[in-house]
Amino acid sequence: MISIQEALELIDSHVGKLPVETIPLSRCVGRLLENDIVADVDSPPHDKSVMDGFAVMSADFNQRVQNGQKDFSIAETVIAGDAPGINLEPGMVARVMTGAPIPSNADAVIMVENAEVQPTKNFETVRFSNESIDSEKHILRQGSNFTKGSLIFQAGWKVRPTDIGLLAEIGASEIVVGGQPSVSILPTGNELVDCNQKPEPGQIRNSNGPMLVAMSENLGLETIALGHASDDITVLQRKIRQGLESNLMILSGGVSAGKMDLVPKVLDDLGVEKVFHRVAVKPGKPVWFGVAEKNGGQTVVFGLPGNPVSSLVGFEIFVKAAILKMTTGNIPPPSPLTCFLTQSHETRGNRPTYWPGRLKLDLSGQRLVTPLSWQGSSDLMALGRADGLIFFDTQSKTFEQGSLVPFFPF
Ligand code: AMP
Ligand code: MG
Repeated sequence: MISIQEALELIDSHVGKLPVETIPLSRCVGRLLENDIVADVDSPPHDKSVMDGFAVMSADFNQRVQNGQKDFSIAETVIAGDAPGINLEPGMVARVMTGAPIPSNADAVIMVENAEVQPTKNFETVRFSNESIDSEKHILRQGSNFTKGSLIFQAGWKVRPTDIGLLAEIGASEIVVGGQPSVSILPTGNELVDCNQKPEPGQIRNSNGPMLVAMSENLGLETIALGHASDDITVLQRKIRQGLESNLMILSGGVSAGKMDLVPKVLDDLGVEKVFHRVAVKPGKPVWFGVAEKNGGQTVVFGLPGNPVSSLVGFEIFVKAAILKMTTGNIPPPSPLTCFLTQSHETRGNRPTYWPGRLKLDLSGQRLVTPLSWQGSSDLMALGRADGLIFFDTQSKTFEQGSLVPFFPF
């Protein structure tokens, strides 16, 4: 049986990066930038006023106020959207609106609240309550946010809703992003009924289907729920054929060693090449992974064990790694949080174990994790109370209270 590390290496070597896509800005949230994004303009694009008020040449203005001048002629009015380029005459001011370009020789703006316009017959003058004005007051210089050619986002950045304004400002209306897999989900098992039904004796509700769909959609992936399949070769063939149309197919159930565990055989019949079956991990040992080549591309297939926590762990550890490879071209090493155990913990068996745990911070901000009471791979109750999975390796059987353990938050 291979180790988790070996399984991840096999996923890395068998899964290819998907072709990049060029998509409109409005659809970029959650996608990974393929290239560095560079500004095509200065921000702001001109020296501008950040207030409604009057642009002045501060030295000239201060001198004149000191010499007793009270009224200043308004040479012109500049509104947001006007092109920059006018010049002030000494002793004159220009009325400017927020966002408007200031005259090229002005260096400060007096806000309108400190000004009183005196209409006269032929022209307007204005009187200010200011005794003086500092140069650079209430103006924003061209390029002071960023200059043309600045790096806005690095390749690999995951676009957030709050990034869209900045991308719009630099005219990134179409963006090249990493490809994203389409995903099909197919739970299998004669005993399964939909969650809107009351199970008859011997039946259980299909937990894995809705859970795997949600986990996949939570990564922003377009996901098709294929219902569920009975443990019947013909039904499985029909449904799996459908799923192989996607870039990634995730099955659950039917990959263990029982008589009705038909999934590996049907996948093989349909030309999906097995890469590994069974990994030393708890829960989730029977996990199956393979790849089907199809005209130029591939379908990546996971058969996760049917017990819900096995499916959950298999998705977290192996399926997510494959998705990263498809979208970014590499699988980074796992990056768990390191936490103190709040109580000692005894592992059973000889496989590394992912165990549901609850995270909290102590008063000094240290991370503490508590292993929850958990019956094993069929017990979703503990997962509903967990913040993530504690990883217990096989170096020891007993983990003392206060020892440091890796924790993978959900
Ligand atoms: P299997 O991997 O098919 O041997 O299933 C292992 C256990 O998981 C059995 O007890 C199944 O009833 C249960 N199981 C299988 N599929 C599901 C599912 N979709 N939802 C909940 N439990 C399941
Ligand atoms: Mg089964």
